[in-house]
Amino acid sequence: MAIATVNPFTGETVKTFQALSDIEIEQKLSLAQAQFLKYRTISLSQRSQWLSEAATILEQERDRFGKLLTLEMGKPLKAAIAEVEKCALVCRFYAEHAAQYLADVSVQTDATTSLIKYQPLGIVLAVMPWNFPFWQVFRFAAPALMAGNVGLLKHASNVPQSALAIEEIFTRAGFPEGAFQTLLVGADKVAAIVEDDRVKAATLTGSEPAGASLAATAGKQIKKVVLELGGSDPFIVMPSADLDQAVQTAVTARMINNGQSCIAAKRFIVAEEIADQFIDRLVEQYKQLKIGDPMSMDTDIGPLATPGILQDLDQQVEISVQQGAKVLIGGHALRDRPGNFYLPTILSEIPKGCLAEHDEFFGPVALVFRVPDLESAIARANDSPFGLGASAWTQDQTEQDRFISELEAGAVFINGMVKSDVRMPFGGIKRSGFGRELGREGILEFVNVKSVWVK
Ligand code: NAP
Repeated sequence: MAIATVNPFTGETVKTFQALSDIEIEQKLSLAQAQFLKYRTISLSQRSQWLSEAATILEQERDRFGKLLTLEMGKPLKAAIAEVEKCALVCRFYAEHAAQYLADVSVQTDATTSLIKYQPLGIVLAVMPWNFPFWQVFRFAAPALMAGNVGLLKHASNVPQSALAIEEIFTRAGFPEGAFQTLLVGADKVAAIVEDDRVKAATLTGSEPAGASLAATAGKQIKKVVLELGGSDPFIVMPSADLDQAVQTAVTARMINNGQSCIAAKRFIVAEEIADQFIDRLVEQYKQLKIGDPMSMDTDIGPLATPGILQDLDQQVEISVQQGAKVLIGGHALRDRPGNFYLPTILSEIPKGCLAEHDEFFGPVALVFRVPDLESAIARANDSPFGLGASAWTQDQTEQDRFISELEAGAVFINGMVKSDVRMPFGGIKRSGFGRELGREGILEFVNVKSVWVK
């Protein structure tokens, strides 16, 4: 895949970039390693000051960065600006809380002194996707840099300007040269970088095949990996739910980022008793969505990020329909204009064995399943290779307790949509990956937890 900015709204190639040569990659690795030996000794308060400065730059230039995200991957500008603001938040969060998370923990043993220390590992490689071009990177970089690691970013090939902007932000904030570097390289270079002795760990957010490939390479090298992969999150609506709230949130939860979010609600599992009402209202809400230029502040749905994503989604819907699923609204790409537009779509009456039962649909397509009772709702929700997030809507305490304890997911939200929160760990189980980002658990992923025993 060429490293280039291609405007998803017009199809125009805005800027192309030359991939780094092997010599240039080597120079960046050497610089990162040399910097790590110094950076790990820098005080937490100094790192915290730099990270706070990065937050200030993000806040002050949110509009400029927001426009860059929209240009490169097509999310509505208002969402892009909100993404930049959330990056500032994660920087401020770790600038404030890292010292507490990384403080020595004293333990009573048979020693005179025994304690746990949290020390940096070294160079951590981050392989990141295009869907939240800033957020995915900052949620890795803020804790990793506070912990004393140095970062190398291999970003998705369609967001090179975002990737370079992130390096620029850290440099301007005061981080020393080599503490955070962007590598403009294709996916074919990842294995060799992971195999390099100087690289101590890696994190990948993206698809299952990419995650499996990186984890296999890292496994052979006995290196720590965090994987944040795909999802097909259930959104369960039971008879006691506040239907107005549930329907409204269902639309937001499915359409976020033009439908291209790992934690977007994708499978709508609705109790038979209220299914007709829920579906009718969902269709009505879909009709209100404004599709158009993502740079316009009143656009709800912009184009998908690339023609390939559009084609994959179109094919998934087509196959599902051939297999018996029914289209309630939408069901095809918008071909009367340039850009990678796909109509907001709802599929229902999805038969057993249909691809829509288990595939992730990475675009604005809702998959509706009717269920007779709580038992079947839980079974249907768990009948997925993924286990990222789950949202369940009910006023019934017993049902809430059952969902919390029985849904197979890294996060369960009751009467709310699944979202990431800097204060809470984020990640999945099953084929959605392993390891956690954010919160205390996130910063402890890339540290040496060292037990110290002194007689
Ligand atoms: P992708 O193709 O896997 O790309 C993600 C990153 O991995 C890119 O930088 C890509 O580089 C690189 N890559 C691709 N193949 C690779 C390989 N064999 N070895 C090493 N690196 C490789 O992902 P995508 O399809 O663009 O992104 C959508 C997927 O990401 C969805 O499944 C979504 O659910 C998931 N996602 C998960 C989370 C989460 O937090 N769990 C968040 C967002 C997205 P190139 O661009 O150069 O190919």
